[in-house]
Amino acid sequence: MSGRRMSEAESAILSRVASSLGTTGEHLFALPDPIRRDVAALLEYYRDPPPVPITISCPLCRERHIDEGVWATRRHHTHSCQGCGHTWRPAVVDTVGVRFLPGFKNEEDKS
Ligand SMILES: [Zn+2]
Ligand SMILES: [Zn+2]
Repeated sequence: MSGRRMSEAESAILSRVASSLGTTGEHLFALPDPIRRDVAALLEYYRDPPPVPITISCPLCRERHIDEGVWATRRHHTHSCQGCGHTWRPAVVDTVGVRFLPGFKNEEDKS
């Protein structure tokens, strides 16, 4: 095993995944350092994915909802309309209301 440079966090992720798979995780821990780090990072990403960027409008008053400041990165699944105060959940997963979807930069709706 070449686990000397493994961080606590990385080791914890690999152990957790291994036990959820019902294995000891020897195959994970035995991976070469850079690959093992990537695997741990990937597993962590899927365990705790960042909020999905979406364009949303309030279902009641139709005001565009854009998360800014701390809400642009803070994970949340319910959103509160700045216009009418309505709170709703647009998706099962965590989401963040954005002006433009990543890769798109269209005219914003004139509302
Ligand atoms: Zn929001
Ligand atoms: Zn509203």
